[in-house]
Amino acid sequence: MSDLLDLPSYLDHPPAVAARLAELAERPLVMSIEGLSREYESDGGQRVTALSHVSFEVRSRELISVIGPSGCGKSTLIRILAGLDAPTGGRVCLDGHDVVGPGADRGMVFQSYTLFPWLSVKKNVMFGLKMRGLPGREAERRALEWLELVGLREYAELYPAQLSGGMKQRVAIARALANEPRILLMDEPFGALDAQTRSAMQAHLLRICDTVDVTVLFITHDLDEAIYLSDRIVVLGSNPGRVLEIIEVPVARPRAPEQFLSAHFLATKKRLEELIHQRETVPRRTSGTIRAA
Ligand code: ADP
Repeated sequence: MSDLLDLPSYLDHPPAVAARLAELAERPLVMSIEGLSREYESDGGQRVTALSHVSFEVRSRELISVIGPSGCGKSTLIRILAGLDAPTGGRVCLDGHDVVGPGADRGMVFQSYTLFPWLSVKKNVMFGLKMRGLPGREAERRALEWLELVGLREYAELYPAQLSGGMKQRVAIARALANEPRILLMDEPFGALDAQTRSAMQAHLLRICDTVDVTVLFITHDLDEAIYLSDRIVVLGSNPGRVLEIIEVPVARPRAPEQFLSAHFLATKKRLEELIHQRETVPRRTSGTIRAA
């Protein structure tokens, strides 16, 4: 066994991070998830508790990730937040109102590409705007603005089949943002992309969050992605799906790829690994040393 690195505790926030987190905590509440539970009855008649008393809050312009091993209830959670499924206990409130079904106040971006293949890129983004009753000209003007934001204005007349996976997801983000949702729910949106495209998309998302008034809840199972993007990370455990810890990410903003190797980043990653692999569940407050396994 040899010492690998002397790391700070993931609970030690540099002053700039502490200031940002304090400011975030004062921001208006966008979504509250209160004691959410979801039980299923399996084919054999047994009860499966997909989620048990899950509670957390999402504040204005926060980027919060939800992470956990397969089967911890991430899909169940996002389906309930989207209003596509109902909890068996607890509630979800958006701007103080109970979520009881799908609504334009929540934008969705999924891992699988969900663009309409028969519509051009521009018309995909215009779709929701026209559904909301915007006249064609205005819908087109706004669609082009959103495409500009994701760097795809010059591809407006192409069709989804002519785009790469990363470009399709940028259109999906533009389409979701064009409806000006109160919260953007992203379900492993970059999970199907190759590593290089994925990191480019992460950079895009960070830039969008700096530019646009948007609150994001991001589901992922990638530890680096969760740390790189998030202000806070909700870590779920499985059997039953429950909150193990909500981590305030001690990495300063603006984020840059060099930070993947910073001490605070690595300390956070170590803690996530401990939680997800259940090697250690008690937060440490002192500096620590990683030892070779
Ligand atoms: P994750 O997305 O984190 O992999 P899921 O939300 O898909 O987790 O599933 C959480 C648990 O709930 C799993 O044990 C899964 O088998 C169970 N589950 C999910 N959907 C259903 C369903 N429709 N019927 C029965 N069990 C389900």
